[in-house]
Formats: sequence, C-alpha cells, structure tokens
Amino acid sequence: MRPLSAPQLLALWDAGQNRHPIDRALLALALAMPEEAPDGLADRPVGWREVNLLALRNASFGSALEGYAPCPSCGSVMEFSLDGAALLGELPTPDGDSLIQFDARQWRLPTSRDQAMILDAPDPETAVLSLLERCLVAETAPNQNAAVNREKSQKLLSSPAAINELEARMEALDPAANIRLGMQCSDCGHAWDAVLDIGTCFWDELGMRARQLLESVHRLASAYGWREAEILALSPARRSAYLSMIG
Ligand SMILES: [Zn+2]
Repeated sequence: MRPLSAPQLLALWDAGQNRHPIDRALLALALAMPEEAPDGLADRPVGWREVNLLALRNASFGSALEGYAPCPSCGSVMEFSLDGAALLGELPTPDGDSLIQFDARQWRLPTSRDQAMILDAPDPETAVLSLLERCLVAETAPNQNAAVNREKSQKLLSSPAAINELEARMEALDPAANIRLGMQCSDCGHAWDAVLDIGTCFWDELGMRARQLLESVHRLASAYGWREAEILALSPARRSAYLSMIG
C-alpha cells in the first residue's frame, strides 16, 4: 500500500469532515486503491476494509499505533501502543466469497453496506437481527418454497443461542472486523477487551497530520507568497528545510 501524498491527505480530511466513519474509511480506500471499483468497496467484508485501512495508516503514518480506551469500571483513560505492522501480519484478509454453513442455510460476511443499512436500527438487538437477515444468501434445502424457508430463518433468528453461534462463526472467518485488545486498568486493576477501531485511529491521525500540513502552508505562504498547491507539492524534506529557515 502506498502512503497518501500531502495533497491526498488534505483532500481526504476535507471531504470526510461531515461524513459517517464508514464513509470516511471508504473514501480513504477509494483514494488509496484506485484499481478497485469505488462502488464495489462498500460490498467488501468489514474486515477487508479494516485490514486495508490499517495497511494505509501504517504506510502513511508509520507502524507505531497509539490510542486510548476508557476503563469500563472506573472511567480512567488507558493509553495503549502497538505495532501496526505486526498487527497487520496477524490479520487474515477475508475473501468476499467465503460462506458460513449453519442450520442448512448459507450466510455471507457482513459488508460496509450492511453496516450502513442498520445504522438507524432502534436498538442493538434489532440491528444484529437486520444484519443477519441481510447476510442470509441461500437456502441449502432445495425442496421447500421461499415463504417456508423465510419463516424457518426467522424462527432460527429468534433463538439467542443461534444468533450468538452465527456471530461467533462470522467473527472467526473475519477477525479483522472486530479487533480486540486485552487491556488492564492501572488505576483500579479491571481487565477487559477493548475494541480497536482502526477507522477512528486513522481519522484522528489524519486530523493531526492535516493540521500540521495546514500550519506549514500558512507559514510558508506567509513567508514566501507560495500557493497552497505549490507548498503541498514539495517533498516533506524540502518543506521542513524551508520551515526551519524561516524559524
Ligand atoms: Zn479502572
């Protein structure tokens, strides 16, 4: 994965300002992976998006990944740091064609589009149900009619144990969709699994880098009268050399 250039980085930061985190991630991948059809990005499994976003952030911001998570017991904010390249090496990139066989039915992995479609669900339980219904691709029992099959699927999804089992199988097939970090609170000792949200980390880092770039543009434009596009086209080494000259 190639790093984002300075103009790309600022364009992405600008375009993503008022967008949902799912859209921000897809915008970033559309820029970084021009060989992919933009419409098709949303139909890739969630873990595919996360793995590629992690690769993009590693290339653009370096391997060291720092973040924070509040302790669910006492609220203290715990920081963590990890090696983004090592994490990337551990995560499989899911194949969009992978199917899960369960109770004589087939399910596909949830995609970004599925996630976006359930954003308006009134509660988490309804959201999970809608997601699983969307991911039901085919019945493997051929001699039943569609209405009967539909009824059977709905009956299956009324069982919490079946829902848990399906979710666990999806997670096993696409672990990058739900990356967890073992955390321990240094204030109260509570141990928990924090969810690592690559999109949030990426957007925070992008924001910091964008502010640095804008400040460089401001200082160099003020000192030399250059235009923004000219300043962003400079290599990082030249930009920093000129910045040190103007003090
Ligand atoms: Zn705590």
